[in-house]
Amino acid sequence: MLGGSMCSREMIALLLALASGGGIAETPDCRRQPQREAWLQTQAERWHQRLISQTGYERPAVFTVCHLAQGNPYVDYDRDRIYLRRVNAEEDALSLAHEYLHLAFKHHPLARDERFIEHTARQLLNPDAVESAL
Ligand SMILES: [Zn+2]
Repeated sequence: MLGGSMCSREMIALLLALASGGGIAETPDCRRQPQREAWLQTQAERWHQRLISQTGYERPAVFTVCHLAQGNPYVDYDRDRIYLRRVNAEEDALSLAHEYLHLAFKHHPLARDERFIEHTARQLLNPDAVESAL
């Protein structure tokens, strides 16, 4: 009815193989972008001082920046990954800041507030504007 014992054992072996080889630790679907990661790491250090008092902010312990061949940038909340393609320096900086903020607020509803995220990203990239806005 349920098949022989060989079958279920094979099934378990298959499930174990899938679980351990499912890309949890290593990352076949992420072409990492070390330079952008380094840039973002440095910025995150500075931004931390500005964000620390913000409700819902939780600094991501680790994050990864992955190459995206096409389409809009996005984040993988489960794996703390940012996917984006290369546009130009200015655009990339804004996109990285924007996507980083999604991760930094992921445990708070603000992460889904695109206006808040975009506004904060622009403020972070332009400290003078923040100063005059306060
Ligand atoms: Zn967004």
